[in-house]
Amino acid sequence: MLKNPVPWPKGCRCAATFSWDMDADSIIHMAHPEDANTRVSTMSYLRYGPKIAVPRICDLFEKYKLKTTFFMPAWSMEEHPEAVERVLKGGHEIAHHGYMHELPNLNTRDREAYWTGRAVEVHKRMTGKSPIGYRAPWYNFSRNTLEILADLGFLYDSSLMGDDVPYLMRSRTGKELIEVSANWPTDDWPHYVHNFDLDYMMTIQPPRLAHEVYWSEFEAAYEYKGFFMTTWHPFVSGRPSRLRYVEKMIKDMLKMKQKVWITTHADIAKHVRKLIDTKKYKPSVHTIPYKDGRIPELAEDAQPLRG
Ligand SMILES: [Zn+2]
Repeated sequence: MLKNPVPWPKGCRCAATFSWDMDADSIIHMAHPEDANTRVSTMSYLRYGPKIAVPRICDLFEKYKLKTTFFMPAWSMEEHPEAVERVLKGGHEIAHHGYMHELPNLNTRDREAYWTGRAVEVHKRMTGKSPIGYRAPWYNFSRNTLEILADLGFLYDSSLMGDDVPYLMRSRTGKELIEVSANWPTDDWPHYVHNFDLDYMMTIQPPRLAHEVYWSEFEAAYEYKGFFMTTWHPFVSGRPSRLRYVEKMIKDMLKMKQKVWITTHADIAKHVRKLIDTKKYKPSVHTIPYKDGRIPELAEDAQPLRG
């Protein structure tokens, strides 16, 4: 089924990563800057992430001697330094997730470069190093994101969905990033988020149903020697009823007949980059951005296609 499966290390049949977007309360300030302070209940819902869920998630992965990846907006890191410290203590990865969960594709290149760089400075100060991984808030990677990240020394992004396995993104000026590709079915937001202030009201269902979707994705990755990448939010999936299904998933993966490489995004990206550099693997290559402006068929003076 997969034309270009990645050779995973140590004879592993497939690779799996768990990533946690610790948005915390940045998103309510971005959604309602004028009166976020009055939305106390939603703020408590979001602050549950760093305060209650992050330590619990770290404990879970450490119980199985595994490392996981947290994508964090820099503002949320500064607001919740104890969560940063807990993650670092467990040796997990902290990657870049904007400054304030701002949308890169709605910003000018200069503004995006400024806030991306400013967030990198927070990472350096709080973690002692520059992040090598990035996920655009709401996956809204811009036409300029690749070059801005490459100029800041990043190795990978995890916002796009152009292949089943990690691939190579190249800008028109030849700058590169590894894409640790994402996938909507394995993002917990559409399964679970139910909040009026965030304008997202999914029907509340048992975690068993979300688990069925996740596990179908995993089974396909295992069968076709592919890649299983999951996106979770501590305030959403760090709750006991949902996190116990994450634990079930980990346990079941560890019991598979052939080994599954459960690791961080950074490890996946480093592995793929090395395979490419040593000519042991030829990834699919995507030139980003894909298009400029309107396509000719939809130019303002073209024959109308509709209406
Ligand atoms: Zn986010």
